Amino acid sequence: MADKGTKQVKTIRVDVDKCNGCRACEVVCSAFHAAPRYSSNNTARARIRVIHDPLRDLYVPVYAGDYVVAECAGRDRYTIDGKEYDECAFCRASCPSREIFKEPDSGLPLKCDMCEGEEQPLCVKWCINDALIYEAREEEVEEEAKPEEIEIGLEALADKHGLQKLLDTVARMSKKA
Ligand code: SF4
Ligand code: SF4
Repeated sequence: MADKGTKQVKTIRVDVDKCNGCRACEVVCSAFHAAPRYSSNNTARARIRVIHDPLRDLYVPVYAGDYVVAECAGRDRYTIDGKEYDECAFCRASCPSREIFKEPDSGLPLKCDMCEGEEQPLCVKWCINDALIYEAREEEVEEEAKPEEIEIGLEALADKHGLQKLLDTVARMSKKA
């Protein structure tokens, strides 16, 4: 049986009524995750995306969640102010069926890491409209091994190029090293 432990659960509450679609959250997120840090900003690399519907004055910030290997079978349908939105419109997954939440050059999945190492998420800090509200709490959890970030990235590459090609490439690289 897994041991009990505590972990800090961090959440960002989104108040869509306060969001005006300025996209400052996307800009700071992509700059923070650039290498070297703050050397560039490309919102296609942001781990938060603001879904726009300017005609209805609707802006919904969505955070990048987990990578999934296949398009899901069950979907959500949203109707807001009488308008029906695309089934995948507000989904957080980095999913093979769409381009959102993927690193544009490598295709590797992007996931919000809550700006690890920072006192508070930078998107929250930069949102002058208070549409993003940071909350942290301690929760009792069963401790289990979490997959490393590198494992998630390798899994995505194996799905995209095939496991054999990935193994051949690693073998070639290790000969050069
Ligand atoms: S910074 Fe705030 S107001 Fe601007 S798009 Fe992001 S969530 Fe909306
Ligand atoms: S918490 Fe940090 S990593 Fe997550 S979306 Fe906001 S700025 Fe990006």
